[in-house]
Amino acid sequence: MALLRTKMELRPLGNTGLRLSCVGFGASPLGNVFGPVSENDAVSSVREAFRLGINFFDTSPFYGGTLSEKMLGKALKALGVPRNDYIVSTKCGRYNEGFDFSAERVTRSIDESLARLQLDYVDILQCHDIEFGSLDQIVNETIPALQKLKESGKIRFIGITGLPLEIFTYVLDRVPPGTVDVILSYCHYSINDSTLEDLLPYLKSKGVGVISASPLAMGLLTDNGPPEWHPASPELKSACQAAAAYCKEKGKNISKLAMQYSLSNKDISSVLVGMNSVRQVEENVAAATELALFGKDQEAVAGIEAILQPVKNQTWPSGIKQS
Ligand code: NAD
Repeated sequence: MALLRTKMELRPLGNTGLRLSCVGFGASPLGNVFGPVSENDAVSSVREAFRLGINFFDTSPFYGGTLSEKMLGKALKALGVPRNDYIVSTKCGRYNEGFDFSAERVTRSIDESLARLQLDYVDILQCHDIEFGSLDQIVNETIPALQKLKESGKIRFIGITGLPLEIFTYVLDRVPPGTVDVILSYCHYSINDSTLEDLLPYLKSKGVGVISASPLAMGLLTDNGPPEWHPASPELKSACQAAAAYCKEKGKNISKLAMQYSLSNKDISSVLVGMNSVRQVEENVAAATELALFGKDQEAVAGIEAILQPVKNQTWPSGIKQS
C-alpha cells in the first residue's frame, strides 16, 4: 500500500499537559479479545504504531486476563523506545475474577500492572467500567486511593471509564475539581452513535481530557463484522452489516470512514482503536492522514448515516442498578 505521510497530529488531554496522538493504540486485541494474536504480530504492530507517530497505548488487566498488559509490556521492552516518548494508560477494578474497586484492591492492582508492563509508572490509571461498581464507592474510596498512588509517583493521572454517559457527570459533580483528569468513553462517538458529543462542553468546562474508544463500534463498523460476544441488538448488527455492504459496493472502506468520523471532532484528544496487525495500524493512521489532507468523505458518510438512521444512538445496557 502506498502511504501518504504527514506528521501525526498530537492533541492536548484536558489540563494534564499530555499531548496524545489523535490515533491511539487500543491494546485489548493483544489480549486475544478479538481472536488470537501472535507475540510477533503484537510486537510488529506496536513497532509500526511508533514508526507512524502513535504515542498513546491503552490496556487493562481485564483484557485477556492480563495477557494484553503482558504483551504490551513485552513489545515496549523489545522496542526500547525512551519512556518519555510514549503515554501508557491501564486500568483497575475490573478483572477476570470480577469487579473490585476497593482501595486495597486498586492499590495492589497498580503494582501487578507495573510488573506485567515492565514499567516504573503509568501515565494514566483508570477505574475500569465503573457502572459495575457503586459510584459512591468510586467517589469516596477508589479515587482517593488513586490520589495516593499519584503522590507515590506510580501513576501520573487519574481516569474513569464506562459505557453509560451519566456515570461521568455523577462522579465529576462529586469529586473536588482537578481530581479526575480524564474520562474514557466507548461506543459513543461513531457514525452509529454520537451521543458523547452532548457531554463535550461539560467536560471541557471542567478541564477533563476526553478519550473516545471503539470508533469501529467494537467491530460493528468493519467488513468482518463484530465478534460473537458483541452486545448490540440483532437490529443494530444487521444495519451495520448493510452499511458495510453499501460501502463495499461504492468501493469505500467503512472502517476508514468510521475512523475519520471520530477523528473529526478535535475536542476528543485521542480516538482509541483496537489493533492487532501492522496492516490495521497502517490503515488507521492512513485514515487520519487522508482526513488531514482531504477532509471527510461527506457523501459516503451521508449514505451510511441514512442506512443507520433507524438505529441511530441505539446502545445496550451496561452495569448494575445504583442504589
Ligand atoms: P474498536 O471499535 O476499536 O474495534 C476493534 C476491532 O476492529 C478489532 O477486531 C480490530 O482488529 C478491528 N480493526 C481495527 N482496525 C481496523 C481496520 N482498519 N479495518 C478493519 N478492522 C479493524 O473496538 P475496541 O478494540 O473495543 O476499542 C478500542 C480500544 O479502546 C480497546 O482496545 C481498549 O483499549 C479501549 N476500550 C476501553 C473500554 C473501557 O475502558 N471500558 C471499552 C472499550 C474499548
